[in-house]
Amino acid sequence: MNDSMETTKTTTKKKNRCYFCNKKIPLVMRGTPCQCGHEYCSEHRLPETHNCEFDCRSEHLKNAESKIKAMKCVCDKVNRV
Ligand SMILES: [Zn+2]
Ligand SMILES: [Zn+2]
Repeated sequence: MNDSMETTKTTTKKKNRCYFCNKKIPLVMRGTPCQCGHEYCSEHRLPETHNCEFDCRSEHLKNAESKIKAMKCVCDKVNRV
């Protein structure tokens, strides 16, 4: 008895279109999505031109935080010695 285990195929066609203006993206430009995960045409590649959802400020904050933590660590060590 073979159970017909049908793997639900989700036919997700890659659209290769600019997420912002829906223009076709030339082959050369494909494969390099923005940090927000969407692909854009040459006009809208820059985060400013497509109102990028990617919050670079929070990323910056994260980086700054980890840097501060690292610095504190160093300070603690210095103080102990
Ligand atoms: Zn576009
Ligand atoms: Zn983006």
